[in-house]
Amino acid sequence: MSARILDGTAVAAAVKGELRDEIARLKSGGTTPGLGVLLVGENPASAVYVRSKTRSCEELGIFHETRRLPGSATTAEVVAVVADYNRRPDVHGILVQLPLPPQVDAERVLDLVDPRKDVDGFHPENVGRLVQKRPRFVPCTPAGIMELLRRNGIGVAGRRAVVVGRSDIVGKPMALLLLHADATVTLCHSRTADLAAVTREADVLVAAIGRAGIIGAEHVKPGAVVVDVGMNRISTIEEARVLLDPDRLLAFEAKGQALVGDVNYPAVREVASALTPVPRGVGPLTIALLMQSTVAAARGGA
Ligand code: NAP
Repeated sequence: MSARILDGTAVAAAVKGELRDEIARLKSGGTTPGLGVLLVGENPASAVYVRSKTRSCEELGIFHETRRLPGSATTAEVVAVVADYNRRPDVHGILVQLPLPPQVDAERVLDLVDPRKDVDGFHPENVGRLVQKRPRFVPCTPAGIMELLRRNGIGVAGRRAVVVGRSDIVGKPMALLLLHADATVTLCHSRTADLAAVTREADVLVAAIGRAGIIGAEHVKPGAVVVDVGMNRISTIEEARVLLDPDRLLAFEAKGQALVGDVNYPAVREVASALTPVPRGVGPLTIALLMQSTVAAARGGA
């Protein structure tokens, strides 16, 4: 079997396309949706993510502003930016790009974001609402994955879903969304005994671990749907030979590095019925859903 490849870029484009009409409607009523971004420090990956998000804002005509603070910023300085965004009527959504530097009290900062502007869905009020199945803002990556499954006609009700990774950003909210969609859910982590035995039970397997290619064919039930959230840079030819297709291997030889997921793509493709690639899988959806939440915040329907 060779799995159907679930194209995240196409679904993201569809989601963004639907937002255009709504943004035009809001603008004609005098409201331009606005996203306030806060980037602290010089983390290159964070800078890339922020650029992708603000580029999407521009594409859709969403106002955006990025405040940058040095890596030495104090909690008080970070809090001051969030407080300013909270007050401003032209900023409907607030994005604090993570990770924050270690000296900054990230919990205090995220708790301070106005829950009605918390488009990432990290505020305890929004987490509580998600747990109670009356969501307002939902973390964008798991929300994007649900959209990807839905738009590809993949139902989860009554099916076994296994999520590997229990972070507040991906794993936990993913498990809740699948549960609320009537899947029977198991949540795994680094202390799970015999991971492969558990993941092989999955009809839908979501890997959100952060370890290149750790999910192999032996972890996957034949015919399962596999969603790969991981984003990992590899730079050794040994890893590249195992994890990349021949065309990507050629590009790797030229560049000396490549982006891969947590799933061993060439191996799992032969077992799964459907699989998300990395790149062009979950990543673009995360951004599309952030845009959707920002528009919802501007509508005031959040
Ligand atoms: P995280 O906070 O580091 O969490 C990783 C999780 O994986 C933890 O729960 C950890 O278990 C578990 N884990 C680690 N090693 C394991 C192992 N050998 N077996 C089973 N579980 C293991 O990471 P995250 O923020 O959730 O992100 C996960 C990955 O997704 C990263 O590669 C990240 O870059 C990527 N990501 C992608 C997007 C996107 O838009 N595509 C968005 C967010 C994140 P413990 O809890 O026991 O430590």
